Amino acid sequence: MRSGLALGETRAMFQHIARQMIASQDLLSAADRAIGDGDHGVGMARGFEAVLEALEDSSNAVKMLDLKELFQKVGMALVTSMGGASGIIFGTWFTGGGKALAGKTVFDGEAFYNFLESGLKAVQDRGKAKAGEKTMVDALIPACSAAAEFHNQDLPEVIQKAALAAAAGMENTKQMVATVGKAKTLGQRSLGFADPGAISTHLILEAMFEYVASLP
Ligand code: ADP
Ligand code: MG
Repeated sequence: MRSGLALGETRAMFQHIARQMIASQDLLSAADRAIGDGDHGVGMARGFEAVLEALEDSSNAVKMLDLKELFQKVGMALVTSMGGASGIIFGTWFTGGGKALAGKTVFDGEAFYNFLESGLKAVQDRGKAKAGEKTMVDALIPACSAAAEFHNQDLPEVIQKAALAAAAGMENTKQMVATVGKAKTLGQRSLGFADPGAISTHLILEAMFEYVASLP
């Protein structure tokens, strides 16, 4: 059981997340076709292709100082490549979350919790979405609460609890009427469909768990 990841392993974790998100393109676009404009999968795939490129540059990796720099590299790659509302929102999750990781080189349960708490705050400062408005925040808030409760446990356990909470939060968005973002024009017709960004949030945390659970 791993208590934490080294910097290089955390970088490999992001490469795994990126590959999983790229592979989820069709699923995410279908979800966005139901209640939005159908581009979420394309945007996420483009964003995580940019993440892979940013992380594959080995000269950068060698020079990387701490987890803050790594998370901000991921966030900046998303913001600058995706465009649209979700580029800013998902990019801010990682750039804002990374601010809590300055000087840290071990990604452990505490660091994961600090990342979620700081990332959630940054996302809400930027996007102004509150709980219950059918956005990715409805997956991120329960994930953050789970991490707050379990952050003293080993990393795989904390991430698993957060990923499960995000899944439940994502399920709950089916019962919400969108009031922000593109889906707000649908009103009651958004009922019954999960929010695409909440699905992505769950998939990102699930891929994180898959990676840490796969380590010896
Ligand atoms: P766009 O809405 O520009 O087409 P995407 O389809 O890629 O962008 O992403 C839509 C997702 O972005 C939504 O499902 C929602 O989760 C998230 N989102 C949009 N606006 C906000 C916001 N203000 N706060 C949090 N999440 C948001
Ligand atoms: Mg869209």
